Amino acid sequence: MSSDVGIDQWLRERGYGLAEVKPRARAALEEAGLTRPGKQRMSLEKLPRAEEVLRARFALHCESPECQQYAEHSGRIPLRCDPRSTCERCGGSANQAAENALLEACRKHGVKKICIVGGSPAVREELEATLGRVLELRLVDGTERRTSERANRDLEWADLVLVWGASELHHKVSWLYTQGPPQHRRKVVLVAKRGIAALLSEAIAHIDRVSGGK
Ligand SMILES: [Zn+2]
Repeated sequence: MSSDVGIDQWLRERGYGLAEVKPRARAALEEAGLTRPGKQRMSLEKLPRAEEVLRARFALHCESPECQQYAEHSGRIPLRCDPRSTCERCGGSANQAAENALLEACRKHGVKKICIVGGSPAVREELEATLGRVLELRLVDGTERRTSERANRDLEWADLVLVWGASELHHKVSWLYTQGPPQHRRKVVLVAKRGIAALLSEAIAHIDRVSGGK
């Protein structure tokens, strides 16, 4: 096994591969004394330190405006990443980007409890695993019978209720939430689009709309 790596390839694998980006990353490594001009390879033992130097100075972002904004506000120098999977904020996934954006919106506007009505078991699992680490979630199976008392308790409890009409959701269940007590209607969002990213974008738009009106 070789005890060093090609600097060019190492930078590419880490997301610093674009023509305008690579020289800047390389210059940072030279400045830190980890390599010098013209040198092609770097020893393995220097890699952790090199990684640290780059992360401390640069924020890698993909082309999404939210990720770009995140990088610009990071206090570090924003650099466009390639491949997308090296984006610090979204890791190249539309779902992850939407999840992060929702968490940001919730933090900003004090939303802590979200009830989501509908969606498949796999989707509920993903939401629990990602959003559930930060937010309190109530994920309601839209194919099971629910009493109006329980639905009203959900409406009472939640800061935001997403009724996901494009998913596995029986009309009788969705109706309990969309036609609940009038004082809760403002926190209910009916989402007609498919996909987690679309669901969460609608939630963000609603949070911004409601909070923007204050
Ligand atoms: Zn991104």
